[in-house]
Amino acid sequence: MYPFHTAAFADADTPFDEARYIIFGVPYDGTTSYRAGAREGPAAIRAVSFNFESYLVDYDLDLADVSICDAGDLDPSSLPDAVVADVEAAVRGICRAGKIPVMLGGEHSITPGAVRAVLPEWYVVCDAHLDLRSEYGGTPDNHACACRRVLEDGMSNIVIVGARSGTREEYDIARRLHLYTADEVRKRGMNVVAEEIAGLIGGARTYLSIDADAIDCCSTPGLGTPEPFGLSPWDVRTLVRALAPSVTGFDYVEVCPCDAGQTAAVAARIIRDFIGCHHTRTRER
Ligand code: MN
Ligand code: MN
Repeated sequence: MYPFHTAAFADADTPFDEARYIIFGVPYDGTTSYRAGAREGPAAIRAVSFNFESYLVDYDLDLADVSICDAGDLDPSSLPDAVVADVEAAVRGICRAGKIPVMLGGEHSITPGAVRAVLPEWYVVCDAHLDLRSEYGGTPDNHACACRRVLEDGMSNIVIVGARSGTREEYDIARRLHLYTADEVRKRGMNVVAEEIAGLIGGARTYLSIDADAIDCCSTPGLGTPEPFGLSPWDVRTLVRALAPSVTGFDYVEVCPCDAGQTAAVAARIIRDFIGCHHTRTRER
């Protein structure tokens, strides 16, 4: 058949049942507090994914040879608690089938639902913000509460990387977790920090959540809540590569494509790198 171009993520054309990686989008930004638009994130990430070669030289791997399915988008409710429940149900189906969920946000409020389904031993999040508020904007399922929800679900092994924004109360909580601020990463270097985090995790099952605003808004300005003095795309790629073999659930959230496409491009490229790295380092298991 003539290869019609679909709206799916590039090289994600394996049927669900045969795929190891299940990409899906959650075009939801209903609790946005500053600049709306993260609902456009999944489409922007998919569109720019076709810009990249399917061959990943770093792994001598062609993503066309990896079994990846793009399952499409969830049709999100307008109610934040219903969205989180839908995400949990969707991800549970993916995990029960023995597959790795790769979720495209959408805002960060969706992550706790995925974590509830993946049931990891560690939760690692890259984020400018601590997201440790008890509630915000009248709901505990606000994007500013994502990490607090994971914590209150009973997750004690939490690593926050790249943070530089939060309330005093949030920092009081964060200091009892594993907190690597953006300043600390800049001072020590991500190679050192990533190896330290990989050592903490010790190969245990990990959920890795990348909030796009972990990266400095001066390089990727397509963000709902932009913060300067952040990580670089290189930093995030280094961390993703260090942890990829342990990851059993992955998301990349908070891409708000109001920029010239940089933020979605970094997201798509890091997602492709994650899949390539995970596939290469776990296929012999
Ligand atoms: Mn966040
Ligand atoms: Mn954030």
